[in-house]
Amino acid sequence: MSPADLAFDQRHIWHPYTSMSQPLPVYPVVAAAGCELQLEDGRLLVDGMSSWWATIHGYNHPRLNQAMKAQIDSMSHVMFGGITHPPAVELCRKLVAMTPAPLDCVFLADSGSVAVEVAMKMALQYWHAKGQPRQRFLTFRNGYHGDTFGAMSVCDPDNSMHSLWQGYLPEHLFAPAPQCRFGDEWNEMDMVPFARLMAAHREEIAAIILEPVVQGAGGMRFYHPEWLRRIRRMCDREGILLIADEIATGFGRTGKLFACDHADISPDIMCLGKALTGGTMTLSATLATRHVAETISNGEAGCFMHGPTFMGNPLACAVACESLALLEDGDWQQQVQAIEHQLQEGLLPLAASEHVADVRVLGAIGVVETHRPVDMAALQRFFVEQGVWIRPFGRLIYLMPPYVISPAQLDKLMTAVARAVANPAFFKP
Ligand code: PMP
Repeated sequence: MSPADLAFDQRHIWHPYTSMSQPLPVYPVVAAAGCELQLEDGRLLVDGMSSWWATIHGYNHPRLNQAMKAQIDSMSHVMFGGITHPPAVELCRKLVAMTPAPLDCVFLADSGSVAVEVAMKMALQYWHAKGQPRQRFLTFRNGYHGDTFGAMSVCDPDNSMHSLWQGYLPEHLFAPAPQCRFGDEWNEMDMVPFARLMAAHREEIAAIILEPVVQGAGGMRFYHPEWLRRIRRMCDREGILLIADEIATGFGRTGKLFACDHADISPDIMCLGKALTGGTMTLSATLATRHVAETISNGEAGCFMHGPTFMGNPLACAVACESLALLEDGDWQQQVQAIEHQLQEGLLPLAASEHVADVRVLGAIGVVETHRPVDMAALQRFFVEQGVWIRPFGRLIYLMPPYVISPAQLDKLMTAVARAVANPAFFKP
């Protein structure tokens, strides 16, 4: 890319959560293979991000590429209204088989945020169909569910700046984030504020929506799976629906196929995305129990009121089928376990550093929380100089590499993190 191309990018193109008036630098990537991104100048960066939890099998995977090429030659897209096709049927059959048993009916959509919109709309329509309209959702602080308005209304009110949207966003119920951490002894008291909030609003709550076990973009926090068992029980008692947003955690990232498996529970509605296509294309799925699906369908509307243009896109479904086949054929469990051990060995000692507030590891996720916010531009430049791609935010430097990363590549990532946290220059005052 010429300097003019980069100047055009800075002047005309929005990047995620980036200022248009004072944009942070962007790094031109021209290719990616395995666990490496190739910069335009030829440098290779070991990828510690899996392109935001998605690229679990590594980049440019021959089987994923082949699945897309084969599908292009028959059809890239066809509408889903009144039409079905083999890639969608194969994908949904796989999803029904691999998710917890009661999840039986699949809605395909375009992105994680839309999967959350669909889940929330399902919950609202479910209560409407029962003739007892309910419109409130209960969730945790520090959650993140996407950037569209419905999803945003259940994100952490401070992180997603609810103050900006006051009067426009529906006001939902926020319980304190779980304090009892994954691996800690269960503390009954942790649930008290949540249980009180739920009891006080039990007649209004349509559903509880949560990220099971791992709160991702809202703070990279890992909480005790007993939470999920308790919430499942409370939902059953009250007839309130439980929505599990497994968009970040699904497909093995936490060491279990789904994070709900840590507690052996099944939600009424589950959202999937990100790694669904192995990080190649955008696609999401919202699964519901037959009870939810039939209640909605027998209501006044007679159907679920949603139908995106690119619903069930055959190309995305075909590559998702192959990504799930790779999971079925491969040894993701061993890979994630090996990454977990290596992350524990490499990152946990950093807790002794004066700039580090906390270090935590779960599955193929390693988090170093610092005392002070990082200087993103300076730290990003340093990481690139070290030959790694790591994108920190706030006070969080974290790794979630592709499952196929080699021990040497993971070492390189962790060495870069260790060097970063030793240098006060990378932290804001
Ligand atoms: N839910 C969770 C838990 C997520 O982590 C994300 C994305 N970071 C989303 C929803 C939104 O997905 P998308 O960015 O594909 O819209």
